[in-house]
Amino acid sequence: MIFRKFGWTEQRVSLIGQGTWMMEGAPDHERRAIEALRLSIDLGMTHIDTAEMYGNGRVEELVGEAISGRRDEVFLASKVLPFNASFEGTQRACVRSLKRLRTDRLDLYMLHWLGEHPIRETMRAMEKLVSEGLIRFIGVSNLDVEEVSAAENALRNERLASDQVLYNLEERGIERRLLPYCARREIALVAYSPFGHGKFPSSWSVEGRVLALIAERHGRTPRQVALNFLTRHPGVFAIPKAGRPEHAIENAGSVGWDLTDEDIAMIERAFPVPDHDVPLAVL
Ligand code: NAP
Repeated sequence: MIFRKFGWTEQRVSLIGQGTWMMEGAPDHERRAIEALRLSIDLGMTHIDTAEMYGNGRVEELVGEAISGRRDEVFLASKVLPFNASFEGTQRACVRSLKRLRTDRLDLYMLHWLGEHPIRETMRAMEKLVSEGLIRFIGVSNLDVEEVSAAENALRNERLASDQVLYNLEERGIERRLLPYCARREIALVAYSPFGHGKFPSSWSVEGRVLALIAERHGRTPRQVALNFLTRHPGVFAIPKAGRPEHAIENAGSVGWDLTDEDIAMIERAFPVPDHDVPLAVL
């Protein structure tokens, strides 16, 4: 696995991490998901992304089980739900998440999306959590340039570390404004649903055939090509969710090799960046 500096921080984080949305379910499904998560850590995909929302807290419990005894190996990220994100509510939510995750600190704590509570209140709570050692870095999610800027301005003593947004081959709108903005501000961009949340281009489509052709040239798979392409920008990290060990193995092989200029040009043609600014896409 390849690691790089997470935005302005000195923390090195794996380019490819592990999403955990929808990890909860029947005992067999959960057992396999925990196995996949543990294998991911073995493979160096140590950035683990979760949220209090996932399975209503159940997924944080599963993550807690998966990382038990290995807390120091992972970069652990979770999120507060917007309706909990008041000054007091954010702090209470964080303590609940820590308990479910069986740890005393989060590496990254994010506002899941902007809701009714003023960003100033949430950021103030986040700063308090940093000062108490319960979280290391402050992040946001689903925020576009103006909202990221507002979050930055709301912070008095800390600096915003990251924005987690929808980013995949079919959704490249962030490359127009948000990605350059975050690069300038040294804010890490974390790509969620990098496979389109189950809508990965089919091998029957023209676009899918482009990926298959490139994959064949490198002895890789189309999904590995996609993750390699998305994380080629220096400030971008991706968190595909693999609920099966074989998927984790495939995803871990996405980086550490280079697409050629010709490959990149082919991908650019098949999956173009919109030719005008578009609102931030969300799932
Ligand atoms: P995704 O990662 O784009 O796609 C997940 C799907 O791809 C799952 O069905 C998974 O199947 C499958 N998959 C993974 N690796 C595969 C492989 N190598 N070959 C074939 N299929 C593969 O979708 P996502 O879960 O929506 O996004 C990833 C993570 O981003 C989430 O889990 C969550 O942590 C985060 N997220 C954040 C937000 C936000 O608002 N901040 C929103 C959405 C997602 P299996 O499970 O069977 O392996």
